[in-house]
Amino acid sequence: MSLAGDIFAIYETRGVQGYFGEHVSMTEHGLQTAHFARAEGAPDTLLLAALLHDIGYLLENVPDALEDWTLDACHEEIGARWLAERFDASICEPVRLHVAAKRYLCTTDAGYRARLSAASVRTLELQGGAMRAPELTQFEREPFWREAVRLRRWDDQGKVAGLATRPLRDYLGLIERLARRD
Ligand code: FE
Repeated sequence: MSLAGDIFAIYETRGVQGYFGEHVSMTEHGLQTAHFARAEGAPDTLLLAALLHDIGYLLENVPDALEDWTLDACHEEIGARWLAERFDASICEPVRLHVAAKRYLCTTDAGYRARLSAASVRTLELQGGAMRAPELTQFEREPFWREAVRLRRWDDQGKVAGLATRPLRDYLGLIERLARRD
């Protein structure tokens, strides 16, 4: 099967599950995150990163209910590792850093934390809480930290029940075009 076919199958079979504690499915959440990326004129690589940023949740077994989480699932690492075998750093690195970007924004953007959903505040604790000064400096040394912060803001927006978006199949061409050839 093609890479686009593989990804389509992953979302079709596992993406129907709810996005922890939110009113959208995992697939809807990815499509909405991409929707907001497109609305801001994101480049194609970042648009694809937005679409696939939570694929790590679909590759691993994580509990259905948020209350069952005792450990952070490290979904960003799982997803980024899978994506790194198939796409360039401009796609997998913002995915790897999107949780760190939430911790970064909690420290650097007054009011950001207050806008987070209840579920997102709950996972923040498991993810290490707001960043401290040495971590901020380290984060800003990452080549794709700015892209990760942009992705994070779309991620936070992509939780709107019933929002109309393009369907997943509209992205299959983009996936094939950006897939690594080596
Ligand atoms: Fe997300």
